[in-house]
Amino acid sequence: STTIAQQDPAVWAAIQAEHQRQEEHIELIASENYASPAVLQAAGTQLTNKYAEGYPGRRYYGGCEHVDVVEQLAIDRVKQLFGAEAANVQPHCGASANEAVLLAFCKPGDTIMGMSLAEGGHLTHGMALNMSGKWFNVVSYGLNAQEAIDYDAMEKKARETRPRLIIAGASAYSLEIDWARFAKVAKEVGAIFMVDMAHYAGLIAGGCYPNPVPHADVVTSTTHKSLRGPRAGFILMKAEHEKAINSAVFPGLQGGPLMHIIAAKAIAFQEALQPAFKQYAAQVRRNAQVVAETLTQRGLRIVSGGTQSHVMLVDLRAKGITGKEAEAVLGSAHMTINKNAIPNDPEKPMVTSGVRIGTPAMTTRGFKDDEARLTANLVADVLDAPRDEAKLAAVRAQVAELTKRFPVYR
Ligand code: PLP
Repeated sequence: STTIAQQDPAVWAAIQAEHQRQEEHIELIASENYASPAVLQAAGTQLTNKYAEGYPGRRYYGGCEHVDVVEQLAIDRVKQLFGAEAANVQPHCGASANEAVLLAFCKPGDTIMGMSLAEGGHLTHGMALNMSGKWFNVVSYGLNAQEAIDYDAMEKKARETRPRLIIAGASAYSLEIDWARFAKVAKEVGAIFMVDMAHYAGLIAGGCYPNPVPHADVVTSTTHKSLRGPRAGFILMKAEHEKAINSAVFPGLQGGPLMHIIAAKAIAFQEALQPAFKQYAAQVRRNAQVVAETLTQRGLRIVSGGTQSHVMLVDLRAKGITGKEAEAVLGSAHMTINKNAIPNDPEKPMVTSGVRIGTPAMTTRGFKDDEARLTANLVADVLDAPRDEAKLAAVRAQVAELTKRFPVYR
C-alpha cells in the first residue's frame, strides 16, 4: 500500500509540519485539545466509506449492520456519561447540532434568546450574520457590572419578549453557569430550554462543572474541546424530544452521518467514562486557577474576577498591547492563543483588548501546577516585552524545553 508521503508529498509535508507545530507549541486556545491515538485511528478507518442515512436498525442503505453497532455504542456511552434520557450522535459539528435544535423547535421569525457574542456567547446563539441571527428575532442577554451573567436582566427580558427558545452556554465565559435559574425562567415563559455545553463538556463529564442535563430540554455539544474527542457534535435530550431532534438532524439538516467520526466519538466517550478522565478534568480546572492567579500576580486583569472552569479572558490594557498584537507575538514565542474581545471592548473585533486562554490541551500533554505556572509566567514575560527579540528567543527556548519534556504523541 502506498503511503501519503509517497502518493502526495505536498499534503503530507503540511500534515507533518502541523504535527510538529502541535508538539513544539504550547496550545492555549481554550477550544482545542489533543485527541488520543485511538480516536485518531478510528477517524482514519474504512468507516468513512459507508453511507448510513437513518438511525441504527432503521437505515436507508444496506450493509449497515456493523456501523449500527458503532452508532449504538456511541449513543449508549454518551447517555451514560452525562445521565441523559436520549442522544443523537450524528451532528457533524457544534454549529450543526445547534442548527438542528433551531430547526426542531422554531420557525423563521420566532423569537430566540441567547448570550450576546460580544459578551461571551457563540455565533450560533443569534449573531446577526449567522443563520440564527438572520432567520430569527434575537433577544440577547449579557453581563452585569461584575462581569457575571446578568440573570435578573435575562429574566426580565424573557418575561417581556417570551422567546420560543432560550439558549444558555458560552464560548468565552469563565464562571459556572446557573442552569437551574435559566430552566426556571424558561418554564415560566413557556420556552424550550437549550444548553450549549460545548466548551464545558469535558469538565462536566469529569464532574468538575455543573451538569445541565437534569435542567434542560436539550443539550448540544462539540466533542473536540475539553471532551477531547474527534471534531464533531452531539445532542442530548429528554425522551419526549427525541423524535423531533432526530428528524431535525436527519432528514432535516444532514444526509449521511460520518460513521468514522461516530466511531471516534464512541471511543472518546469510553475514555471519558474512565476514572482517569475525572483526574484530567480536575487538573484542567486546577491549571486554569494557577494560570489565572499567576497572570494576576503579573499585573493582568482576569475578566469576571477569575475562573471556575478551563477558560479565562485576560484584559491586556494594563500592558498597553492589543489582543491582535499579543496573539502574534505569543505565536512567535511558540504559545498559541486567540485574541478575544473583553466586555465593553474599546477596540474593533479584529483587534480587541483581550486574549482567551484555556488549559484543556496543556493538561492533556501532562502539565500540572508547576508547568501551568511556568507557562503563565512565560506569557507574562512576552506581554511585558513584546518587542524585545532577545527576550522572545529566551522564552522560545524555555517553551522548547517544556514541550520536549511533555510530548503529545510519543
Ligand atoms: N458552541 C459553542 C459554545 C462553541 O464555542 C462552538 C465553537 O467554538 C460551537 C458551538 C461550534 O462548534 P463547531 O466549530 O464544531 O461548529
